[in-house]
Amino acid sequence: MLAENISDKVGPNNQQTQVMEHLRQLVHRPSVTPNDAGCQSYISRILNRLGFEIDMFEVNDVTNMIAKIGEGDIRIAFSGHTDVVPANNVQDWTVDPFALTEKDGVIFGRGVADMKGGIAAMLAALEQALPSMDLNSYCFYVLITSDEEGEAEYGTKEIIQRLADNNEVPHMCIVGEPTSAETTGDVIKVGRRGAISGEVLVKGKQGHVAYPKNANNASHKAMALGKWLTELSWDEGSTDFPGSHLQITGLSTGEWTDNIIPGECTINFNVRYSNKQTEDDIKLRISSGLLQLKQLTQDLTIRWSRSCLPYHTSGELIDEVEKSIFDVTQRFPRLSTSGGTSDGRFIAQFGAQVVELGVPNHSIHQVDENVKLKDLLDLQHLYRNLLVRLAS
Ligand SMILES: [Zn+2]
Repeated sequence: MLAENISDKVGPNNQQTQVMEHLRQLVHRPSVTPNDAGCQSYISRILNRLGFEIDMFEVNDVTNMIAKIGEGDIRIAFSGHTDVVPANNVQDWTVDPFALTEKDGVIFGRGVADMKGGIAAMLAALEQALPSMDLNSYCFYVLITSDEEGEAEYGTKEIIQRLADNNEVPHMCIVGEPTSAETTGDVIKVGRRGAISGEVLVKGKQGHVAYPKNANNASHKAMALGKWLTELSWDEGSTDFPGSHLQITGLSTGEWTDNIIPGECTINFNVRYSNKQTEDDIKLRISSGLLQLKQLTQDLTIRWSRSCLPYHTSGELIDEVEKSIFDVTQRFPRLSTSGGTSDGRFIAQFGAQVVELGVPNHSIHQVDENVKLKDLLDLQHLYRNLLVRLAS
C-alpha cells in the first residue's frame, strides 16, 4: 500500500522527531484565546516550504489562516485552532504548561491534546503524504483560527465565509479536535448537538424586607419561573444523538443585602439539543411558556445568545476515516455526536462533510494536560493514511 511505502522511506524515529518538534514549537507559544502568539507564523512557514499559498488575516484580534495547495476541483480541508484555555493554577501543574515535557512516554503541556497535538500531527502527516497526493485533481486546505475556545465569532465562521465568497467551500473537512476516549481512533465525531443560551430578566418591586406587602419580590417570581424551566420535558435523542436537556446556569439579583427585597432577578440557562429539535421551536416553546406565566411578574424579558446549530454528517468521508483507522489500529471507531460544540458546525452549515478525529480528550482544559506519545504518533499515521486515501 502507498501509505506503507511512505512510512518505510521516512523511518519511525524521523517521524517522531518531526511531530514532536512541531508540537514543541506550538506549545512554547502561550496562545491563550484569542492571542495566536506566533503559532500561525510557525505553521505558515512549514506549509509555505511545502508549497502552500498562505492567506493570514486578523478580525477583531483573532488571527486566522487559510493555506492552500493544489489545483483540483475536489476540495479537502483540515480545520484546527491554535488558541488554548489559560493555565490557571500554575502552582498545581507539575510541569511548565508552556513548555513541552515528556515523561515515560507521556507528553505534558497546555494544548498538547486540545489541539496543538492535532495540528502538529497534521503538519508531519502532510510532510510525508504530499508527494503521493494528486494535486491536479485535488485541492488541500489547512484552516486555522486563534478563537475556538472563546466566543468563536471571528474565527472559523469568518474563514468559511471567506472560502464561500470565493466558491471554495471544502467538500470534506477533517477537524483535529481531541475526540478519542482511551486510544487514538477509538471514537470519532460525526456531528454535534445544538446549543442555545437564554437570559430571563424578571422585574418586581424593591422594598424593605420587613414590609413585604409594599414590595414584589423578583427572586421569588424567578424561582417559580426557574422551576417551570427545569420541569420541561425533552426528547430522549436518537441512535445518532444524545437527548436534549436544559440546565439553569445562573440565578442572580446582583448586589444584595439582607434587608432589601430584590426588585430584579435574572435567570440564565442553556439548552443542548438533538436533531429532534430546532432552535426556532425551542425559542418559541420557552418564550410562549414564560409569557403564559407572566401573571407571576410585573415585567419579564428574554434574550437569546450563543446560538450553535447542530450538524450531522453522512457520506463517504466517514467510510474513508473508518478504513484509515482500521489500517492503523486494526479496529473500527465508535461514531459519536456527544460533547460540547465545535467549529465543525460552521463548516458543515455550508454543506461540507465533516468528521472530527483527534487524540484522547481525558485531560483537556485540566491541570497537567497530557497525551501519550503513542497516541500522537498514531494520529500522525492516521492523518497520513487518510490524506493518501482521500487525495490520490
Ligand atoms: Zn479544541
